[in-house]
Amino acid sequence: MSIEKLYLKAMRFSERNKQYFQMSQQQIADENSILLCFCSRAYCIFLLFYSILTYVLMPNLILVICYAVFGASGVGFLLFSRYFCRKRTVSFPVIQKVCLLFVWTVLAFTISISVFPFPGQPAIFFPLGFMLVSVLFILPFFKMALTLTLAFFIFAILVLLYKMPESASYDLFGGITTLLLGYFFLYVISDLRLRGGEALIRQKVLNRTDALTGLPNRRWASENMPPCYRRCQKMQLPVAAMMVDIDDFKKYNDMLGHPAGDACLKAIGEIILSYSSDLGILSARYGGEEFLFLLGDCCREEALNAAKGLLECVRSRAIPGPDGPVTISIGVAVQLPDSDSSMEHLIEEADAALYHSKRIGKNQFTLLEAD
Ligand code: GH3
Ligand code: MG
Ligand code: MG
Repeated sequence: MSIEKLYLKAMRFSERNKQYFQMSQQQIADENSILLCFCSRAYCIFLLFYSILTYVLMPNLILVICYAVFGASGVGFLLFSRYFCRKRTVSFPVIQKVCLLFVWTVLAFTISISVFPFPGQPAIFFPLGFMLVSVLFILPFFKMALTLTLAFFIFAILVLLYKMPESASYDLFGGITTLLLGYFFLYVISDLRLRGGEALIRQKVLNRTDALTGLPNRRWASENMPPCYRRCQKMQLPVAAMMVDIDDFKKYNDMLGHPAGDACLKAIGEIILSYSSDLGILSARYGGEEFLFLLGDCCREEALNAAKGLLECVRSRAIPGPDGPVTISIGVAVQLPDSDSSMEHLIEEADAALYHSKRIGKNQFTLLEAD
C-alpha cells in the first residue's frame, strides 16, 4: 500500500471516528458510564485483593503506598460512576473526560508498581494494564493512541532512570511489544465499534424515514417537532402548523390503480421535501396522504405565504389525475404559545382548518388563529 493510500485511509478513519463521536453521544455516554462503573469496582477489588496478597507474600512499603493512593482514587471514580449511572445527569463531555482520567489513573498505577517497588525485577503489570485500558473505554482513536504512546515514553524514561540495567532491557522490550499490540487492539476494537455505531445510526435514520416518499415519518415528527414548539413557547415566538391532504385521492387510486397512487404520493413527497428544505422548516408524512409542517418563529403573514407557495408548487407541477391535475388542500393554524398552549392543540386546529378547506371546495387553504 502506498503512503498516499495509507494517508487517505487514515483520514477516512479519522472522519468516521469524528462522525461517530458526534452522532452517538448519548449511547457512548451511557456505555462509558456503565464501563466506568464496572471498571472502577473491579479496580477497587483488585487493589484490595493485591494489598492483602502483597502483605502476605512480599511486604513492600512502596507497593502499600501505591495501593492506598490509587485505591482512594478508585473509590472516587466508583462513587462518581454510580451517581452517573443512577441519575444520568452528567453531560457527554464530562463523562468522556472522567473516563480518560480513569485511563490515566490506571496507567499511572501500573507504571508506578512496575517501576518503583522492585528496581531489579522486570515489570509484570505494565503490559496487562496498558493493554486493557487502551481498548475498554469508548474514546476517540487518535486520542487513545496518543495516550498509549505518551504512557509508554513515561514508562520508558522511568525505567531507564530507576531500574537496574538487566531488568530495564526486559521492560523496554516488553513495553515496545505492548505498545504495538496496544495500537493493533485499539484499531480493531475501534473499527468494530465504528461499524456497530454506523449500523445503528443507519437503522435510526431508516426507522424515521417514510419508505415511499423519503420524507421524515410520524415517529420523526413526534421526536423533532415538540422541541421546536417548546423553543417557540419558551421564547414567546409565534408558531404555525400546516396540515396538507391530497384531494380525492381515493378516487385517484380507484381509477388509476394503487401503483399509480404510490407514484403520485412520491411526486407530492418530492415537492414537499424540496419546499420544506428551501424554507428550512420541518415536515413529515403524517398519515396515508396527509403531511404535516411545523413552522417555528412564523407569523400569520409568513404562514399564509408558505401555504400559498406550496399550493402553487403543486399546481405548477401539474401531476396528471383522473379529472385533471392533482390538487391538495391545506389547513394552517397560527398561535402565539403561552405556558398553557400545546402542540397537539395547534395540530388539531390545523386539522380543523384543513377540513374547512375541504368543505368549501378543496384545492385551497384556510388559516385559523389558534388560542
Ligand atoms: P379528500 O379529498 O376528502 O381528502 O378525499 P380522499 O379520497 O383523498 O380521502 P380519503 O381519506 O377517503 O382517502 C384517502 C386514500 O388514500 C385512501 C387510501 O387508500 C389512500 N392511501 C393512503 N396511503 C396510501 C399509500 O401509501 N399509497 C396509495 N396508493 N394510497 C394510499
Ligand atoms: Mg385526501
Ligand atoms: Mg386524508
